[in-house]
Amino acid sequence: MSWSLSAAVEEILRKGRDGAPLSREEALTLMHLDLEGRETYALMESANHLSRAQFGEKGENHMHIGLNVEPCPMDCAFCSLTKRAGLFTEKIEFPLEDILAWARQGEAEGADALNLMATGTFSFTRLLEIGRRLKQEVSTPLVANARDINHAEGEQLLEAGYVGFYHAVRLGEGTDTPFKPERRIQTIRVLHDVGLHWVNCVEPVGPEHTAAEIVDLMLLARREKATYSGIMRRINFPGSPKEPLGMISERRMAQMVAVSRLVMGNTVKAHCTHEPHSLSLVAGANLFFPEVGSSPRDGQADTGKGRGRSVARCAAMLREMEWNPDLPSNCF
Ligand code: SF4
Repeated sequence: MSWSLSAAVEEILRKGRDGAPLSREEALTLMHLDLEGRETYALMESANHLSRAQFGEKGENHMHIGLNVEPCPMDCAFCSLTKRAGLFTEKIEFPLEDILAWARQGEAEGADALNLMATGTFSFTRLLEIGRRLKQEVSTPLVANARDINHAEGEQLLEAGYVGFYHAVRLGEGTDTPFKPERRIQTIRVLHDVGLHWVNCVEPVGPEHTAAEIVDLMLLARREKATYSGIMRRINFPGSPKEPLGMISERRMAQMVAVSRLVMGNTVKAHCTHEPHSLSLVAGANLFFPEVGSSPRDGQADTGKGRGRSVARCAAMLREMEWNPDLPSNCF
């Protein structure tokens, strides 16, 4: 093994560490670094430096609340809430009392945002009603995570109290899902037009995805001005059609978190990773998603009783890696 960094990698990291934009080729070079090599550790150090210089000590917890479970007819190949997965055979909408209790608990535990996720056929009117009600009950910023929307719907979300919208052009969009990438991008532009923050993650990453596919989505997040972005790996639920392909390790994910962090440069307010783990917190990530309610990664209807981590658990992980979840959010 060489003891010094190659001049080319050193130059990319020098730029990236200061928040200067990386080219596609530079990001691809970093994606191909050997996990065992010193250059990968130098990459993670650069991303960590950039985040700590830009975000201060703030560690963020944006609590995912999955509003409903259904055998979703959209049948995205990586999702456990699909008709074809067969894990859920009935539609279940969590009662408003449960959603309010989760939101109040999130607020009490210091969540920085509540990300309300609905499946493919969930009523938009209901999403608005839930937003209005939560707005009266908690002061934590509300983020919606739902289907593609138009301008009128974007205005309605704002009026109902939402400040942001989670949306992603997923890996395999249009082949693993029935949605067109162009339509997803149109929604992202609607968000900017109406004044909702667009929040994003490059997801769901699996071992079969090429470095180029992944980097192109990182660049999309920068170009379309995400408030935050990051990396989420695909979780193969039992019986997932993706099971034979396996999953990427947290270690590989941390390398991608670092590349993504340098690609986003000084354009973002935070950098996310999912599911919560420590290593990425020294590779540029400072934002976790604690989870309750439905999750496309779980076979349990309430992931709070399954894979989901609580706000308190995520806050403890952030503290162990010397991020402070008690400071005010940088995001909204
Ligand atoms: S990802 Fe969303 S739209 Fe696709 S199957 Fe799952 S719930 Fe339905």
